[in-house]
Amino acid sequence: MEAYSQIILASRPKGLPEPSNFRLEPGPIPAPGDGQILLKTTYLSLDPYMRGRMNDAPSYAPPVSVGGVMEGEVVAEVVQSRHPAYRGGELVQSRIGWRTHAAVAPAEVRRVNTGANPPTTALGVLGMPGFTAYSGMKVVGQPKPGETVVVAAASGPVGSLVGQLAKLAGARAVGIAGGSAKCAYVRAQLRFDAVIDHKAPGLPHSLATACPDGIDVYFENVGGPIWDAVLPLLNRYARIPVCGLVAHYNGGALEDDAPISRTMITVLRRSLLIRGFINTEFVADHYENFLKELTPLVASKKIRYREDITEGLAAAPEAFIGMLCGRNFGKTLVHIP
Ligand code: NDP
Repeated sequence: MEAYSQIILASRPKGLPEPSNFRLEPGPIPAPGDGQILLKTTYLSLDPYMRGRMNDAPSYAPPVSVGGVMEGEVVAEVVQSRHPAYRGGELVQSRIGWRTHAAVAPAEVRRVNTGANPPTTALGVLGMPGFTAYSGMKVVGQPKPGETVVVAAASGPVGSLVGQLAKLAGARAVGIAGGSAKCAYVRAQLRFDAVIDHKAPGLPHSLATACPDGIDVYFENVGGPIWDAVLPLLNRYARIPVCGLVAHYNGGALEDDAPISRTMITVLRRSLLIRGFINTEFVADHYENFLKELTPLVASKKIRYREDITEGLAAAPEAFIGMLCGRNFGKTLVHIP
């Protein structure tokens, strides 16, 4: 069996993380105790929320401690089972973090359940990011036929599904993405109605042109200058699922960024509904339907997705830093051979 390794948080980053904030550590492969199963990771998911876990600041989840293994979800193979419910060769998903192996109790895993779709989708379009898009749109966004839905990070796992769900609901989907390759993909492959490159000059003007009837749903993934461009275009009763603020993750405390008075006066005058959410709060009511509805749509390619796969655990820090800068093109995954 291959050697064990893990990536720990070596120090807390200031601003954008650097490779020296992480350390690859070898070690012995853990031995499963009675009732446990031994997992060997095949794919590790890298997600923007992990940047927040690197800070020692209050949030909805506790930080990773310095010297602790970086947090994250994986798809893994059961390589040894000391529990009657599991046998070798089964594929499961589990939150074991950035490591090649782990010995866990069955309560810490669930079987990969992606139907005819590849197991990697369990970490993307049919996993946590897909569910985030689905539940944020279902509970907060609620797009109606003819409405305009805007989302940034539109080629990524959350944004790409937000726009495709908007289209399925009969709404117009307007995407914002960084660079011409991502924009071409969002328009041609994901079939959004319009797409804007936020790296090109004149974002407020381009967005206004792409949204002649204003914006009814703005699915907030990014914040920063994109929010500033969106704010004047919001229609009365617009809904704003606040999902993430990736433009701010490498800055100082979020609370210190831009004053919010201009936002709040617009909220008041246009009766806007702004609702922050963490996907886990919707799991009990919506997860089952998410998988039931989306699995066949992905298999039939009515819903499309893209993955950006890096080879080897040692390359995970660079891939993670790249994602925070927009160098990923699709769901960021690490393949561990
Ligand atoms: P992506 O794979 O799309 O990666 C992040 C993308 O953000 C980058 O590729 C880049 O795309 C974009 N980006 C980064 N910095 C900026 C910037 N300064 N301005 C504009 N765009 C920027 O991420 P996900 O789809 O996994 O996540 C999208 C959002 O959803 C994140 O904010 C994340 O934190 C949030 N999220 C929230 C959850 C919840 O439960 N509330 C759960 C899961 C995700 P580009 O090159 O196109 O600009």
